[in-house]
Amino acid sequence: MTTTLDPAASEAVAGARDLRSQVRGFLAAERSAGSFEPRCDSWMSAPDPAFTRRLAARGWVGMTIPPEYGGHGRTPLERFVVAEELLAAGAPVAAHWIADRQMAPSILRHGSEEQKQRYLPAIARGECFISIGMSEPDSGSDLASVRTRAREVDDGWSLSGTKVWTTGAQFAHAVVLLARTDPGERHEGLSQFLVDLPHPRIAVRPIASIDGEHHFNEVVFDDAVVPVGSLLGDRGHGWRQVTAELAQERSGPERLMSTVPLAEAWIDGTRRGGVDQVARREIGRITAAAWSLRQMSVGVAATLARGSSPDTEAAIVKDLGSQFEQDVVQAARRTAPVGGADFARLLAEGVLHGPAFTLRGGSNEILRSVVARGLGAR
Ligand SMILES: Cc1cc2nc3c(=O)[nH]c(=O)nc-3n(C[C@H](O)[C@H](O)[C@H](O)COP(=O)(O)OP(=O)(O)OC[C@H]3O[C@@H](n4cnc5c(N)ncnc54)[C@H](O)[C@@H]3O)c2cc1C
Repeated sequence: MTTTLDPAASEAVAGARDLRSQVRGFLAAERSAGSFEPRCDSWMSAPDPAFTRRLAARGWVGMTIPPEYGGHGRTPLERFVVAEELLAAGAPVAAHWIADRQMAPSILRHGSEEQKQRYLPAIARGECFISIGMSEPDSGSDLASVRTRAREVDDGWSLSGTKVWTTGAQFAHAVVLLARTDPGERHEGLSQFLVDLPHPRIAVRPIASIDGEHHFNEVVFDDAVVPVGSLLGDRGHGWRQVTAELAQERSGPERLMSTVPLAEAWIDGTRRGGVDQVARREIGRITAAAWSLRQMSVGVAATLARGSSPDTEAAIVKDLGSQFEQDVVQAARRTAPVGGADFARLLAEGVLHGPAFTLRGGSNEILRSVVARGLGAR
């Protein structure tokens, strides 16, 4: 756990001042051109492919992909700085977020040369969006029980099964699927596939969220035949690959910053409303918590950058960070400033999206069991 408190990592992030101010300048120009309104949870629920392409043109998508695969060869900590600014602004980054955050590193680590050449440059150009096909109707927390099957056929693999909560599959160019290829113990015999969308035998059906928007889907594979080269990584190594991917998925700044645009509107409204001691105390408490969590998230990013897979630390960040995001909503609600259309809209988004924060990416109860195992307590 000492890695999470690595002061050098914080200094590296602080050192990227020029980069930070370039991103701020870009976002200010986009805001004044009316290209977006700040959103809570913008990394999950605000896709805008045109915005993504403008970001990519500045080198801020696929930052850590090596130049030989069309990326920018920047460090994970530089990517962290850009991510922080985008999240704080509530910018519409959901189109590319999953591909950029976890699929690019996963393809780089496990993909064939053909997959790297094909997908990585397109991700870095902001032209390839990828969704996650892990959860199933009866396999969420107990992911190892997935029933989707991949059967070897003459010209590749035939995929059958149903995935749910597949965020962004309606606009994704591919889905990374976890399926059973072989019998064996629970964690054996699972493999990952990188499958292009659309496909004539893959149905993407919308699931409406409580806010009435369409963020995720049910995805049905009906004997969908895909080429041999769709296998991602090694046959039977799916569990190990997915676990490493989840460390990328769980530890980033988005796990504590989904409600920062609301916090900013809350602080702004409180400041304009005059002295409110209760609100000020709450803002102080939230700010202190935000700072501590950020230090932990930076530490995990630094560990990932060194090539380790800090599963336990990532689970702690996600557990505490997602509770913090919900805490912001409740604190803002309790001490709500009067007026402000932006504040009311952001608060509504926080209230409606908040319950999902501690479920997505693995529920917090499950993460605590990951932490207990990591600490040798079970
Ligand atoms: C906004 C959002 C986006 C998502 N996007 C994706 C996506 O793109 N791709 C994808 O594959 N999945 C996605 N998911 C699914 C997500 O990963 C699952 O919801 C999550 O893993 C929980 O699984 P479940 O919904 O089946 O709940 P269940 O596993 O049925 O759990 C229900 C409740 O029981 C608790 N519980 C279950 N087992 C235990 C246990 N052993 N001990 C203690 N408590 C337990 C859980 O903590 C939870 O509170 C998304 C979910 C949300 C909310």
